Amino acid sequence: MPDKSDLKATLNLPATAFPMKADLARREPERLAAWEAAGLESKIRARAKDAPRGKFILHDGPPYANGKIHVGHALNKILKDSIVKSRAMEGFDSPYVPGWDCHGLPIERQVDKELGAKKREMGDLEIRRACRDYATRFIEDQGRDFRRLAVFGEWDRRYATMDFAYEAEIARCFGEFYAKGLVYKALKSVRWCSTDRTALAEAELEYSQRHDPAIYVAFPFAERQKVADIFRFHIHADALPEKNRFSAMIWTTTPWTIPSNLAIAVSEDASYSLVHATGGSDFFLVADERIAAVAGQLGWAGFKKQGDSVKGSRLVGLAYRHPLGEKSRGAIAPAASAFRIVATDYVTLDTGTGLVHTAPGHGEDDFRTGQREGFPVLSPVDDAGRFTSQVEKYAGKKVLEANPLIVEDLRQAGALAGEDKHFHHEYPHCWRCQQPVIFRATEQWFVDLERSGANIREKASEAIKRVQWIPSWGEERIAGMVENRHEWCISRQRRWGSPITVLSCAKPGCSGQYPPPDSTALPFFANVSALFRREGGDAWFDPGHPASEFVPSGAACPRCGSAEFAKETDILDVWFDSGVSHEAVLHHGDWPELRRGEYPAADLYVEGHDQHRGWFQSSLLTSVALESSAPFRAVLTHGFVVDGAGKKMSKSLGNVIAPQDLVAKDGADIVRLWVLGIDYREDQPLSPEIIARTSDAYRKIRNTARYCLSNLFDFDPGENLVPDGELLPLDRWALSRIEELCRKVRAAFERYEFHSAVHALHHYCVVEMSSFYLDVLKDRLYASAPDSALRRSAQTVLYRAARVVACLAAPIISFTAEEIYEALPGKREESVHLERFSSLGGASLSEPDEKAWDRLLALREEATKILEEKRQERVIGSSLEAALSLSPAPALAADRARTGFDGNAFADFFIVSAIDDSGAADSGFESAAYPGLRIHFRKAAGAKCARCWKYAAEAAEGGLCARCSAVLEQLGVQAR
Ligand SMILES: [Zn+2]
Ligand SMILES: [Zn+2]
Ligand SMILES: [Zn+2]
Repeated sequence: MPDKSDLKATLNLPATAFPMKADLARREPERLAAWEAAGLESKIRARAKDAPRGKFILHDGPPYANGKIHVGHALNKILKDSIVKSRAMEGFDSPYVPGWDCHGLPIERQVDKELGAKKREMGDLEIRRACRDYATRFIEDQGRDFRRLAVFGEWDRRYATMDFAYEAEIARCFGEFYAKGLVYKALKSVRWCSTDRTALAEAELEYSQRHDPAIYVAFPFAERQKVADIFRFHIHADALPEKNRFSAMIWTTTPWTIPSNLAIAVSEDASYSLVHATGGSDFFLVADERIAAVAGQLGWAGFKKQGDSVKGSRLVGLAYRHPLGEKSRGAIAPAASAFRIVATDYVTLDTGTGLVHTAPGHGEDDFRTGQREGFPVLSPVDDAGRFTSQVEKYAGKKVLEANPLIVEDLRQAGALAGEDKHFHHEYPHCWRCQQPVIFRATEQWFVDLERSGANIREKASEAIKRVQWIPSWGEERIAGMVENRHEWCISRQRRWGSPITVLSCAKPGCSGQYPPPDSTALPFFANVSALFRREGGDAWFDPGHPASEFVPSGAACPRCGSAEFAKETDILDVWFDSGVSHEAVLHHGDWPELRRGEYPAADLYVEGHDQHRGWFQSSLLTSVALESSAPFRAVLTHGFVVDGAGKKMSKSLGNVIAPQDLVAKDGADIVRLWVLGIDYREDQPLSPEIIARTSDAYRKIRNTARYCLSNLFDFDPGENLVPDGELLPLDRWALSRIEELCRKVRAAFERYEFHSAVHALHHYCVVEMSSFYLDVLKDRLYASAPDSALRRSAQTVLYRAARVVACLAAPIISFTAEEIYEALPGKREESVHLERFSSLGGASLSEPDEKAWDRLLALREEATKILEEKRQERVIGSSLEAALSLSPAPALAADRARTGFDGNAFADFFIVSAIDDSGAADSGFESAAYPGLRIHFRKAAGAKCARCWKYAAEAAEGGLCARCSAVLEQLGVQAR
């Protein structure tokens, strides 16, 4: 017999250059460089030319180009990348053009900070240049980080809302809105940030807790007798002493708006009464439903209703006196006929008094009421949130700081019925500076969402129903938000943005505009758009392009006939800019591969669930207005990343995990595996422990692939691949598992359920391969003759398994998938990312075969348990020291016949040295897999084969089992 080392040399032991240690942080950048050098991304695009399944357009929502990317950005881009990659491998032409949102306040503020005092000496163009440079810097920085995550796309042809061509498209789209008569300028109550001195959109508000004084104010009725009559008061009013006042009681958390009060609103259908506190002298008008609550709040010992209860409708028109003196409130013309009770439909009876203080200059509902009732828009507050000289007493004071003064003045006037100095409530704050916002009336530009004929809101509501929302609750959410929108304030009083390209009459006091708001305006905007394409939106701010350049000679102001115009200085809401990306990029952009020529222009939008009120909505509204359709067929939303304890990540809490750090330490594939392994629809925690668990899962997949590869060192699929029909029974089963894996993962990709794909892949590697199939295969792979059918059959499955794992993992762990693919023997594509899923797959078993295998595997589990017990008891060391005797069972015999399991292979299936059916039927372990079958353990007879360690009778004499002797003979190795 050859000595031990010679024997070992006759085994086909695994060998591979595929490293055990991933070392991703070091290897990934090399791989990126190699992909770049090979022009992989262009090759993927070239491959798409013969994509059998047509276009799939995922339109990138542009992240804001300020600051480094955070882990939320990484999650968003990895999800998108995985969708794009899996769709491409599924046979779609799936281009991806990343974009950036560049205009707007966050960058302008940042640039303000960097420029400091210098900014005051700079012109608009210089400031815009600085903002453009800033955005460019972060487009590059973020782009680098996204590419490092193996996010494939047209990075050198990315879009940016500040590109000249894009700015030209914004101007064109705005022009279309304008020419359709959808844009108007008006004085309106809008949310205003006094710090940033600009109007804010709903999407730019953040709600957080704030303390404010909440006060009850009594507005005395002007004519007591009239009130007494309505309530059929039992005492004649004249008989009451003068000190017994009749007042309308309101409740407010914004005392600073009291100087601008012009009316008090009631609900027509609610019933109201005059109440009188025990020991008090005044009669207060309060809604019946609120009396008890108000009495409690004001600490009344008791109270009494006086007279009847009457419906709100009977109170309409009653006049009251403003409790503050003329110096403490804004002056209005007497003709305004203010200070009276009005009826509205927004009075609720769950807080307050059932009477609502109404200041048309400082609230959305108030404004609408004021318009209806013909009140002036009293809003004596400037850009910086300070009272103007219109209110003499508080002039120059910041409104929120004036609150205590006003409360005090109300007290002096005897109008303060009650005060809670620290009322806790949710209050809107500016998304950028976190300062509380106020309502203020200003001249703004609006898109009319309700204009008859256009009916944008109604059409949007209809369009929402035709979109697939994933998860489905998104539909209700966006529908509710659109339902409540009347108009869209599209102007901002800043400099870094797309200009509102309209001219206004230069004559002081004239509100004339040019061009007229109808289809004759289109050539004007076409001109502006062409200019922007050449010079960018900057051209509008350039004194070198005066207003006269945009007006044909002879054109005059439609109001006053003057020929002098000035360029509008407001810029557009950034949500308008990004909202028209379907036009600027998909429909009219310079990306032919994205152009579908019809709407919906995109198959899918993918963003965080905060975008229902942001980008999804602005995109929907512009698309409905311009194309009468939603821009997307489906919208997928994901949650946010929080820390391990579920808290929001923030610098101040010190719990931020930066994607750059993860990539540098653990590698991008670990970040990708984490993102794609979680249920992204919910907010998801991220912590070092979670990353450690992810790395663990990663290693399992890697090791399984590595084991497959390490047994393919002498396998050439071109030569050695065994046809499906000639595979050994167990290998045919393994082939059915490959088929099942492909089916599951592809279905998961199809439904964007990446965590199911990751789970299926992990389960396949760990459960089906590592802990069963590969274990059983070892003897056949190592000890069979190298070129034997036994070994080639196993290798065929390993080859196919490794290839399947590489391809299915390509949209997930894109670096590692390539590494596995590259290590495959034989012919292959240049990159795994050029593969198509349709080339994968195994072969399914028939259903009866499948059932037979399920029973056999269950039997194996039972036997394994017995062997494990014997090992624990130290009866055996390795399971090869064991043999099994089964009692004769017809069902088992049938399953073995069906699956084709012969004697040796059946013993190998259990990893024992021998198996027979001579076991007694009245003792031993009772099988549940085969009712009636008994399993008997015994120690294997014979001696341990020196080569394969199986026990065999022959080995007792020659040292080797019959199989090993035969193999050695075949190999020409001389047995002694
Ligand atoms: Zn602000
Ligand atoms: Zn004019
Ligand atoms: Zn042997």
